[in-house]
Amino acid sequence: MNPTLRKPLIAGNWKMYKTVAEAVQTAKDLVQCTAGVDVDIMIAPPFTALAPVAEVVRGTSVALGGQNLFSKNDGAYTGEISPVMLADIGCRYVIIGHSERRQFFGDTDASVNAKIRAALNHRLIPVFCVGETDAQREAGETFSVLDKQVSKGLEGFSSEMLSNVIVIAYEPVWAIGTGKTATSDQIQEVHTFLRSLAEKRFDNLLAKTVKILYGGSVKPENVSEIMKLPDVDGALVGGASLSAEVFSKIIRFHH
Ligand code: PEP
Repeated sequence: MNPTLRKPLIAGNWKMYKTVAEAVQTAKDLVQCTAGVDVDIMIAPPFTALAPVAEVVRGTSVALGGQNLFSKNDGAYTGEISPVMLADIGCRYVIIGHSERRQFFGDTDASVNAKIRAALNHRLIPVFCVGETDAQREAGETFSVLDKQVSKGLEGFSSEMLSNVIVIAYEPVWAIGTGKTATSDQIQEVHTFLRSLAEKRFDNLLAKTVKILYGGSVKPENVSEIMKLPDVDGALVGGASLSAEVFSKIIRFHH
């Protein structure tokens, strides 16, 4: 982590969990538990809870994110949510290309690229997820998979459009929701690779400023070790973000 260049970001992905009442209560508890913490915090509740949670976090250090968007501003796209709607409701962030969306809902490198463009057009910070599967890692394809996801996902953008805006989340698919965390060596190796890829495909400014989060079974017990790694700027947390008590321990990783 390099806090002088990149303030840590701890992001919670609530996935398809929580009724409105549960989401509001967790957000209230989280605001209370994290007051005064000098870390960027984001929570991404399900769409149904965004508006009431927005009321709870307004004016606090907890920012709101969507879990996905569709790349059009509006139109006959039943079931979809647009960047205009997310921005309107008070989102600052949006998770894009999460492996669960790639696996179950047809997200591709091309659709992810369009979604990132849509997010940027509406001043939403994309949390752009990349990561290899178990089989790809076993086959020695980790770096080629990540290279393709990043290159296609960010195709057509300039460093100027992305620097100080985009966040990349490295989430090895085999570590998400499995309790299996990547080792420190595996994480640092990939984060270094991603930062050098930013330099190779774009420039030094993007490489220096892009926040690269790690995601995959992050918990209070392992967050400090992960956050000590020089190229890790934060965490994207699923299961352990559902409880304000547990998530706030992750947010207070340096205590
Ligand atoms: C995620 O959903 O992005 C994630 C990393 O999940 P978990 O922390 O539960 O592995």
